Amino acid sequence: MNIKRNVLLNPGPATTTDTVKLAQVVPDICPREKEFAGLMKNLRSDLLKVVHAPEDKYTSVLFCGSGTINIDVCINSLLPEGKRILVVNNGAYNSRAVEVCEMYRLPHINLKSSIYEPPCLATIEETLKANPDVAVVYCCHHETGTGVLNPIREIGALAHKYGAIFVSDTTSTLGMIPLDVVEDNVDFCMASAQKGLMAMSGLSFIIGRKDIIEASKNYPTRSYYCNLYLQYEYFEKTGEMHFTPPVQTIYATIQALKEYFEEGEAAKFARHRAVYDAIHEGLSELGFETIIAREVESGLVVSVKYPDSPNWDFEKVHDYCYERGFTIYPGKISTTNTFRLCSLGKIFPEDIKNFFVVLKEALEFYDIKL
Ligand SMILES: *Cc1c(COP(=O)(O)O)cnc(C)c1O
Repeated sequence: MNIKRNVLLNPGPATTTDTVKLAQVVPDICPREKEFAGLMKNLRSDLLKVVHAPEDKYTSVLFCGSGTINIDVCINSLLPEGKRILVVNNGAYNSRAVEVCEMYRLPHINLKSSIYEPPCLATIEETLKANPDVAVVYCCHHETGTGVLNPIREIGALAHKYGAIFVSDTTSTLGMIPLDVVEDNVDFCMASAQKGLMAMSGLSFIIGRKDIIEASKNYPTRSYYCNLYLQYEYFEKTGEMHFTPPVQTIYATIQALKEYFEEGEAAKFARHRAVYDAIHEGLSELGFETIIAREVESGLVVSVKYPDSPNWDFEKVHDYCYERGFTIYPGKISTTNTFRLCSLGKIFPEDIKNFFVVLKEALEFYDIKL
C-alpha cells in the first residue's frame, strides 16, 4: 500500500509512520474480549514508562476523545468540596482550563499573565500563600498557542509546598520533551495519542497518582462520562474502558509506542530540536520574524509574525504549501497576526528544508516581499 506522506507543521495531529497507519488495519474484534484487555494493560504500563512514573504510585487511565477530554476530566474530578483550583494562565490552553472551571461552576482563581513569557513564580507563591483553600494547581507544560514552555517543576514544587496537588496539561510535550513525573513534581499529566506519540486521534490518557484518584472517590461527582475515579475503578475491576474504546486507534498507539521506545527518548528529543532549529533557520533566511524569545520556547512550536507586505494572504500561502504536501497552521494570539510552524511528528530537518523551498516559491508566486 502506498500512502501519500504529508508533512504536518500544525501542532497535532502529527505526521505518522506508515507502520503506525497500517497498524489500524486488523481483524475485527470486540473490545470486550480478554485479548483486547491484555493489549490495553500493556499499553497503560508503557504510557507510565514514557513519563518514568513508578507503577506502584501512578496509573494511566484511558479515555475515548480528543485531548481536551483530559482537561475536563482532571478539573471536574480532582477538586474536593469547598476547595479552589488555581489556574496559572499564560495562554489559550490554560484559558481552556479556566473555561472548564466556569462551565462546571467550580471555585477557581484565574491567575493571568503575559502570553509572551512563562508565569512569574513569586506571584504564584504569593497567590498560594494568600489562598490556603487552593487544593489544585493547574498549568500547561507548553502553551501550544504561542510556543512558550512553562517551568512546571518549579510550579509543582510550589503547589506541594502549600499542600495542593499539581495537574499539568502535557498534551503538547509528552513523548517529545523528556518528562519525569516524580522529579518534575507532577501529580497528574495528560496527552492524546496523536501528538508526541505520533499515533492517531481519538485516544487520550491521564497519568496520575493512584492515592489521589482513590481519595477523589469521595469528591463531588460532576460528570457521568468524564469522571476520573469511575474510569479508573472500571479499569481496576475489568481491565477495560467503561464504554467503547477507540479500537483501531489503540492498535495504532501500541505500534507508535513500540516505535517510540525504538527511537529512544533522547534521540527523539534531539530530532524534534533539530527540526525546530531548521524552522528558525529557514524563517530567518527568508526574513520572517518570530514573536517569542528563543530562551523560553519549547522547541516544538514557532509563532511567526505575518509579514507587512500588502500581498500577504495566509490562506493563499497555506493553500500553495498544502497542495505540495506541507500543512502550515494559523496562530492563536489575539493581539498579533501570526501563523505557526511546529516540529511535532515523524519529520526531519530535510523535510523543513524542502518546505522552505516551497514557501519561498509561494512568496515569489504571490509577490510577497519581506
Ligand atoms: C492539543 C492540545 C490539547 C487538546 O486539544 P484537542 O483539540 O482536544 O485534541 C490540549 N492541551 C494542549 C496544550 C494541546 O496542545
